[in-house]
Amino acid sequence: MLNIEPIPAFNDNYIWLVTRPGESGAFVVDPGDAAVVEAALAARQLQLAGILITHHHFDHVGGVLQLRETHDPVVYGPFNPAIEGVDVRVAAGDQVEVLGAAFEVMEVPGHTLDHIAYFARSDDSAQDSPVLFCGDTLFAAGCGRLFEGTPAMMHASLQALVALPADTRVYCAHEYTLANLAFAEAVEPENAELAERLRQARATREQGEPTVPSTLSLELDTNPFVRCQQPAVLDSLRSQGKLQGTDAEAVFAAVRGWKDNF
Ligand SMILES: [Zn+2]
Repeated sequence: MLNIEPIPAFNDNYIWLVTRPGESGAFVVDPGDAAVVEAALAARQLQLAGILITHHHFDHVGGVLQLRETHDPVVYGPFNPAIEGVDVRVAAGDQVEVLGAAFEVMEVPGHTLDHIAYFARSDDSAQDSPVLFCGDTLFAAGCGRLFEGTPAMMHASLQALVALPADTRVYCAHEYTLANLAFAEAVEPENAELAERLRQARATREQGEPTVPSTLSLELDTNPFVRCQQPAVLDSLRSQGKLQGTDAEAVFAAVRGWKDNF
């Protein structure tokens, strides 16, 4: 069984800290800031065994070289030479072992061209649900901005992610949930699950707690970026005059464009 907890960084990033109960080895995912990782390791008396990187943005890789100076982690990351300090470059279909758990690498371009995600199937012995580290691709109730990829790329990436088991826990890299839900509600004002999610997320944030991880089933019920064929989403885009076509990619592009100006 893996323990996964957030290390908050910068304004709204989460660096995920992965451990096993009773063991001292730890992995971190997307350590943009070394100082907060060092503090978390020291507080828990952990040794940094490895690092997973999802994409090249500074708020995800900024701490890697510094962490390598004081620890001896194995660093996994995408085939992007711009990312320094990577020991093992990985691509679709590769497996990465994280504290004894096997994670599959998926290529999920869209936010950036080099973006990858790490997925672990459930550990039957411990009845764990599957785990997905998806960086800035799929967010709770949202998705990453298209800095490098096309809408078609991001749409395909999101579809590949939501095709994973519905009970998969989604560990994204930012706390953007309330803003994403405000937009989602504008797209689907009649969605009761969405209204309930917004109510719960507000209460969670008022307590100062993270709203992530989410689950893929919750995303499928409430995230407009993976609901492009829902009649309510199509109607909403049509009434806003934003619908250029009804194929899934065109609908996704329209939703993404609306959010960019929301
Ligand atoms: Zn990013």
